Amino acid sequence: MMHQQMLDMIQQLNDYSYAYHVKDAPIVPDAEYDRIYRQLQEIETKHPNWIQPDSPTQRVGEKPDSGFANVAHTVPMLSLDNAFDNESLSDFDQRIRKLLKVDHITYCCEPKLDGLAISLRYEEGRLVRGVTRGDGLSGEDITSNIKTIYSVPMKLRTSTPPAVLEVRGEIYMPKEGFEKLNALAVEQGEKTFVNPRNAAAGSLRQLDPKITAKRPLVMCAYSIGYVEGWDQPKSHYEGLLQLSEWGFRINDLMAKAEGAQGCIDYYEMLNEKRVDLSYDIDGIVYKVDQIALQNQLGFIARAPRWAIARKFPAQEEMTRVLGVDFQVGRTGAITPVARLEPVFVGGVTVSNATLHNKDEIARLGVKINDFVVVHRAGDVIPKVVQVVLDKRPDNATDVIFPEACPVCGSDLEQVEGEAVIRCTGGLVCGAQLKESLKHFVSRKAMDIDGLGDKLIEQLVDQELVKTPVDIFTLAEKKDTLLSMERMGQKSVEKLLASIEAAKNTQFNRFIYALGIREVGEATARALTSYFTELNDLMAADQEALVEVEDVGPIVAQHVHVFFEQELNRETIKGLLEAGVVWQKKQQIFADELPLSGKTYVVTGSLTQFSRDQVKDKLQALGAKVSGSVSAKTDCLVAGEKAGSKLTKAQSLDVPIIDEEGVIALLNQHGAI
Ligand code: NAD
Repeated sequence: MMHQQMLDMIQQLNDYSYAYHVKDAPIVPDAEYDRIYRQLQEIETKHPNWIQPDSPTQRVGEKPDSGFANVAHTVPMLSLDNAFDNESLSDFDQRIRKLLKVDHITYCCEPKLDGLAISLRYEEGRLVRGVTRGDGLSGEDITSNIKTIYSVPMKLRTSTPPAVLEVRGEIYMPKEGFEKLNALAVEQGEKTFVNPRNAAAGSLRQLDPKITAKRPLVMCAYSIGYVEGWDQPKSHYEGLLQLSEWGFRINDLMAKAEGAQGCIDYYEMLNEKRVDLSYDIDGIVYKVDQIALQNQLGFIARAPRWAIARKFPAQEEMTRVLGVDFQVGRTGAITPVARLEPVFVGGVTVSNATLHNKDEIARLGVKINDFVVVHRAGDVIPKVVQVVLDKRPDNATDVIFPEACPVCGSDLEQVEGEAVIRCTGGLVCGAQLKESLKHFVSRKAMDIDGLGDKLIEQLVDQELVKTPVDIFTLAEKKDTLLSMERMGQKSVEKLLASIEAAKNTQFNRFIYALGIREVGEATARALTSYFTELNDLMAADQEALVEVEDVGPIVAQHVHVFFEQELNRETIKGLLEAGVVWQKKQQIFADELPLSGKTYVVTGSLTQFSRDQVKDKLQALGAKVSGSVSAKTDCLVAGEKAGSKLTKAQSLDVPIIDEEGVIALLNQHGAI
């Protein structure tokens, strides 16, 4: 029974490996492949006489079936053994110390770049051939394609090169290039790549080098495979530094570490940095640094004994789609969200993943009950990236996109050229109303304390609030409020007091609170410093609106259309009648203000004022307040714990003032 099970596993892994290595189109995520691989390893450890010659534990990669010539490697290009936790890393260290009979080992630690391995041969300093790893013994000659990659030196930067030098490294596609390539493929209706690794492999193995040349590929050297006519350094690390001098890119996070503890510390450090790197890594490679010790240790079936790959937790996992929900956002956008069987991926348990829109559902071909690959990296919203067709169950059913709004039943509309489908219900739609109200009361808008998401949902569900105006008449419904869940005398009074206080607002906050499409905080400020009167802003046509700084034709159209709607005009009138007011700025021409023409950036935490208050005051003095530092910034206000903006300002020699400095400045102009 177990024997047959093992044979089935080998068959399955070999099928997966063929799709991954030869077709550059994996069927399952790596985590799933690795899981079956480890089960197979366990069986083989228990029954060594069962080991099959075609078992993936005995082989490296796959022999490719491409149009490229096959070239034998001078020295085989092997795979790496894996460690999935600290314990197996320590076991590795212990094992080789025992074999070498030494107490302590220095390791070279390198990020495990997620691309594909390449061997480059230089004769008398000139690049003569580039070959993929293939099945480890021979690979494909892809020299013409390799030559299109700028980080591959055509000639070594030395007048005394070794007679022969074979350099090994990884060719990978940085994340940004991958996103762009896939976006272009979607636009042109072509097939997308599942991840940057497959994109790199697929790009490199194009039969037409012109196509490869268009792909954003990078090559990073990580070892010396073979040399003639040169005494290579005794340390692997030193060898890589030499390669760097000769013109190769090496990874700048590479470092030496002492013993198992040093390796674990390096892991912690790199795991933190992982999401911020501009390229994908799936782990760390630890190598015994002394070449003499490496030679003493040698190889086992498919991997060197002197190196190990410590894998990071997977960012891609497989799970099942239990159903698809359709959420309605503030602007009516209908977003399909896959409800998933909970799965641990990217460090958290995920039970929902976005499917973006109707086109994406069609592109993925996803059905309910399908197994899918879910991707989650850093704080990014988890998304479904692939359907595992191999595992499609008989009960898989189509996802039906609703014909009408799932919340209010209004018609749906899709603007030509846009992927988003929207509910046309506006504030009649409960979902849009709830989201609009949440935005309306939020801190940077009307700033109504005590009116949280839960309470808004209750108020809408009980039909106490149908438009933002109703918030300001809640005082008349005090008894009903008191009868609501978790609403005591005290909290009701507090709520009513903060509603009352919020009536006194600022023009820019009021415009932002209205939730006009594409009008964020900054645009609201720009609009209200240009049109100082509400009536002028409401009456402005598109031509007048594009005169406002940073307002383009699309934003102008949204603003114009918003103020044209009868319902919106009524809401605004109602709000003003309910007592919402703001202080009118004096009609001063912008260029007469003390800080006119100056651009400020505010960052870090302030103690006496909030950042928003400081921004408002600077703007009142005529300054433009921007969100990012550039050479055009006139001054950075840096509070405590200021981070990257401070570093950037320092590097650009932008003047920097602290909280005291800005208070002094505001005082000087009578703004406080
Ligand atoms: P590997 O990727 O685990 O390790 C070896 C490779 O690491 C080398 O060939 C090289 O390309 C790379 N590497 C990156 N940085 C390096 C560095 N600094 N030094 C040395 N090498 C470095 O082993 P493998 O044999 O290529 O393949 C196994 C991997 O492929 C696993 O992660 C497995 O999940 C995946 N795989 C997935 C599927 C699938 O269906 N999803 C199928 C087969 C294999």
